[in-house]
Amino acid sequence: MRILVVGGAGYIGSHMTKMLLEAGHRVVVMDNLSTGFREAVVPGGEFVETDLADRARLEALFRAQRFDGVLHFASFIQVGESMTQPAKYYRNNVVHTVNLLDAMVQHGVTRFIFSSSAAIFGEPQYVPVDEEHPKLPTNPYGRSKWMVEQVLADYERAYGLRHSCLRYFNAAGADPDAALGERHEPETHLIPLVLQAASGRRPAITVFGTDYDTPDGTCVRDYVHVTDLCQAHLLALERLARGAESRAYNLGNGSGFSVKQVIDAAGEVTGSRVAVVKAPRRAGDPARLVADSTRARKELGWRPRHAELETIIRHAWAWEIKTATRFARAAAL
Ligand code: UDP
Repeated sequence: MRILVVGGAGYIGSHMTKMLLEAGHRVVVMDNLSTGFREAVVPGGEFVETDLADRARLEALFRAQRFDGVLHFASFIQVGESMTQPAKYYRNNVVHTVNLLDAMVQHGVTRFIFSSSAAIFGEPQYVPVDEEHPKLPTNPYGRSKWMVEQVLADYERAYGLRHSCLRYFNAAGADPDAALGERHEPETHLIPLVLQAASGRRPAITVFGTDYDTPDGTCVRDYVHVTDLCQAHLLALERLARGAESRAYNLGNGSGFSVKQVIDAAGEVTGSRVAVVKAPRRAGDPARLVADSTRARKELGWRPRHAELETIIRHAWAWEIKTATRFARAAAL
């Protein structure tokens, strides 16, 4: 298939590009490099540097070649920032996504895989969280993702655009070959931050909240390996290509680990003692988020291959060791 990967210079999009190329698909990466990195664009496909705001360029891209599917990773992802800058989130995550969908409809491209998020559920009313759980997002980031899911349902009804919404829980880890990994500037995610503390790039890890109603008082999350997430995209795309109906899937391993457990596991993997600083809760963090991914396993045949937390951290650590000096220097420039 010829696949358009929007946001292919980012964390998950770059891993996806690598997997698609390895599976023998043709890939066009589109990215505006606002948060992604040119060097993360995996060689072997075509790279188009443009922004989803540019409808004319989008139109030209779809006119020039016929895509069998579109995978959309290009969104802003910081919950805290979305509270202070909602316009940035609604414009990019919603309006620009609608631009992309319109170009697809215009050119008869009917398969769309959307990177959604557990943030659409808000504070869980029960765990594990299945697809039917009420959608009550508590911040503009989560609302932007849930809005797009609703737009997609309407576009399917009116225009026949078929889609899969993949709701990631906590994406983590790195390419097992250490060719790619996680890089956000600024970094806000727990596992890379802990590993940056272990490698000496940061003095310590700050734990946000130690008084949650969880066994050790810190938040519990469901960490899912980035290549397992990508595998789910490939399966969802193949399923749409077989003519299946649109569907949403929750993607996680179904087991929760606390912030403290992650820090302890990182200590074991790296052999370093990570200094810990306790801090107040971060606004908008639910105590416990764990996925029920039964549907993805049954309908997509999804079998996460790197479900162990230790494996996820080990792969992320290999990437941190490989890149720490270079990225630290780049950030200081
Ligand atoms: N967290 C933390 N210190 C950090 C970053 C994150 O204690 O420096 C906690 C955060 O409060 C949450 C968990 O780690 O409970 C996972 O946060 P992350 O930002 O990685 O993902 P999120 O769950 O927000 O998608």
